Amino acid sequence: MTQKVLSFDLGGTKLAAGVVSNQGKVLCETRVPAEFSRGKEAVIRQIVGIGKTFLKRFEDINTVGVASAGPLDPIKGVLLDPTNFVSKKGRWGRVNFTDLLEKKLNRRILLENDAAAAILAEHWVGAARGYDNAMILTLGTGLGTGVICNGKLVRVGSYLHTEAGHMIIGHNDRSALCGCGNLGCAEAYLSGKLFAKRTSALLGSEKTADEITTLAKRKNPIALKAFDEYADWMAVALCNFYRIFNPEIFVFTGGFAAASPLFLPQTHRKLTQLLNSSPATKTRVKAPRLCVSALNNDAGLIGAAYHAVHSR
Ligand SMILES: [Zn+2]
Repeated sequence: MTQKVLSFDLGGTKLAAGVVSNQGKVLCETRVPAEFSRGKEAVIRQIVGIGKTFLKRFEDINTVGVASAGPLDPIKGVLLDPTNFVSKKGRWGRVNFTDLLEKKLNRRILLENDAAAAILAEHWVGAARGYDNAMILTLGTGLGTGVICNGKLVRVGSYLHTEAGHMIIGHNDRSALCGCGNLGCAEAYLSGKLFAKRTSALLGSEKTADEITTLAKRKNPIALKAFDEYADWMAVALCNFYRIFNPEIFVFTGGFAAASPLFLPQTHRKLTQLLNSSPATKTRVKAPRLCVSALNNDAGLIGAAYHAVHSR
C-alpha cells in the first residue's frame, strides 16, 4: 500500500500543501498566497484550515511534513524568527511550530528548512539524483541554500542549516541591503526580490523580477546589464560555496530560477574562470554542473515528505 504524507511548503509569500506518496510523487496539491500581511496567527490558521481539509479526504495519513523558510530548528520543531516572515504586525519571533500544529491537526508533525527539503527532494527524485555531493539555491523572496555531502543532508552546528545566502560577498555595499539587516549578503544580490529592488533603482521605476526578465528578453540595455552583473555575483557566490562544500552539481529552484537562461551560461563561464585563476595550475578544474530543478516548485513539498518519512 502506498504510504502518504501531508506536506506543506511555507515561503516568504506563498503556502503550498499537498499529498505526497512514498515514491516521491505529488498526488494532489494546492497553492495559496500566505497571509503574512495579517500576521503570524492568520498564516497558522491558513495551514490548519488547509491541513484539516486534506486530512478529512485522506484519512490514512498520520504524518505531516512542513518545509519552511528559516532559520529554524528541525530537531526541536521551532521557527527561529524567519528572516522573511515580516508584516506591519512585526516579525514572528520564536514559534514552537510542531507542538502548535500537532495540537491542532492531531498528527505527528516534522519540520524541515525549505531549502534543505528541496535538496532532499532533488537527491531523491530530481536533478541531483545520482549525485552524492550537491547544493541547491532557492531564488525567491530570499536565497535559501541546502547541501548534500557524501549522500547526507548537511546540518551545521546545533543541527541548524546552512544559511549561506547570508554570506557577505559585497562588504559595505550600500546598494545591497539584505533582509537580515547586513549589507552585501549573497541574498541581497541574488534573491529575485532584492535583484528587482536593485534593478528598479537603475531603471528609475518599481519593477518586479518577472517584469525585468521580460525587459531583458526585449533587449532593454539596463535590464541586460543587470543580468550580466547578476551572473557575476552568482559566480562569486558559487565559487565560495564550491570551496566549502565541493558539490558536483548546483541546482536552482524558486520563482526566479525561471530567468536562468539570462544568467546561467555566463555564470558557468565566470565560475570556470574563478576556479582556474592560477596560471601555475596544470590541470583545469571543471566547474560543477549548473541546472534548474525539474520538480516544478514541488521540491519543498516532496522534500518535506521525505524528511517526515525518514525521521521515524
Ligand atoms: Zn543577509
